[in-house]
Amino acid sequence: MKELQRKVKEEGVVIKGSVLKVDAFLNHQIDASLMKKVAEHFYTHFKDKGVTKILTIEASGIAPSIMAALAFDVPCLFAKKAVPSTLTEAVYSTDIHSYTKNKTSHVVISRKFLTADDKVLIIDDFLANGEAALGLYDLVKQAGAECVGVGIVIEKSFQSGAQRLQAEGLDVLSLCRIASLAGDKVTLVGEE
Ligand code: 5GP
Repeated sequence: MKELQRKVKEEGVVIKGSVLKVDAFLNHQIDASLMKKVAEHFYTHFKDKGVTKILTIEASGIAPSIMAALAFDVPCLFAKKAVPSTLTEAVYSTDIHSYTKNKTSHVVISRKFLTADDKVLIIDDFLANGEAALGLYDLVKQAGAECVGVGIVIEKSFQSGAQRLQAEGLDVLSLCRIASLAGDKVTLVGEE
């Protein structure tokens, strides 16, 4: 997706050689128009899969996911990183290790929002080692639902996430693929 790739290159800031800060349009300030176009790309790729639910994890996955939910006309469900006192019903849960925060979160979703009838599209802002997406996939499997694929806004292809998801047989669509952040410079796949 050319517009996204241009933004990543022009506005992304490399931190500590392996993390990309995209606060200007995705992780802090959100470019809603760009997120709408991101969602349209996900829709074009997965529209024939019978998607009934978009699943993501709070917080940064929510922006592209809510736009995708609009495109597919289905609900957007996000896994919560802390169990709120209002969540009194039964939950599915899993542990997800955050690459950027170096911290493991116990994440939950209410059982009533994901059932064996669901066909789920997992969406996230970044794919690095695949921990977040694999954790969400675990929640889908616990519910007995089907995962039709994974939509990623920015994939860091020099990390193992995409291979790990594909090894599970998942269809992964990444709209911007980064080959390297070496030298604090963003090099996209195909530019090397
Ligand atoms: P993974 O679970 O695939 O290792 O990492 C993906 C998750 O970590 C995403 O949910 C994202 O929030 C965060 N993440 C991983 N790498 C980056 C990065 O380079 N930049 C930002 N902003 N978030 C990242």
